Amino acid sequence: MVTSTIPARGSMLYEGKAKKVYATDNPELCVVSYKDDATAFNGLKKGVISGKGAINNRVTNHLMRLLESNGIPTHLVEELNDRDTLVKRVSIIPLEVIIRNIAAGSLAKRLGIAEGAPMKRTVIEYCYKDDSLGDPIVNDSHILAMDWANESELKLISEASLRINNILKEYLSGAGLTLVDFKLEFGRLPGGEIVLADEISPDTCRFWDANTGEKLDKDRFRRNLGGVEEAYREIRARLLGADK
Ligand code: UDP
Repeated sequence: MVTSTIPARGSMLYEGKAKKVYATDNPELCVVSYKDDATAFNGLKKGVISGKGAINNRVTNHLMRLLESNGIPTHLVEELNDRDTLVKRVSIIPLEVIIRNIAAGSLAKRLGIAEGAPMKRTVIEYCYKDDSLGDPIVNDSHILAMDWANESELKLISEASLRINNILKEYLSGAGLTLVDFKLEFGRLPGGEIVLADEISPDTCRFWDANTGEKLDKDRFRRNLGGVEEAYREIRARLLGADK
């Protein structure tokens, strides 16, 4: 969407681990600015992935536009430059929605399953977003009991997340990538409408090369596998055709 006037970036509202959020002169909009900083294990491991901010900005916008064109409402308004995107200001629902197609990461560890084990169906998990608690896993009844979302909102969130999975899986398989798992966050607009927010990038998804199984995501950083920058550039190249 092209806005007639681009609101100026104002004061910083919030600095997270991988992004900064700035106010604009329009109270309904803010600017998200993607950083090269990387953290893992709830902030215990810190580093810099050179060029990551620009890649995650581009990849997120590309995938959110794909979702929008498939009828999924998102917070996206307009990509402003390399690192910055104008988005609708939302109040974030304090949940990480995790969709899993193949067992990996914390699920493989928690259930004692080999990473890469196929599963009979897609798994949806929720974690309560609170770093001081280590983002604990919660279920539907916790979410309703704590009033983080009501029943119809939770239904919308779970149905949208599974649709997003189908859209992304199919699209990524065309780029030779297996979507192993990923994390989504949703937010409420001032009128209460729920939209997809946050990012969809190699920081928040596990992407495996469909032929070789090579990891092309943040696991290369988490697990000290090397070739971290190259993996991020490979994802950008496969999705956007940019130079590696
Ligand atoms: N994830 C994320 N942010 C988090 C936790 C997980 O983006 O705070 C993503 C992660 O990149 C992976 C999926 O969610 O694609 C599932 O992560 P998992 O629960 O296996 O945790 P991890 O092994 O990453 O700690």
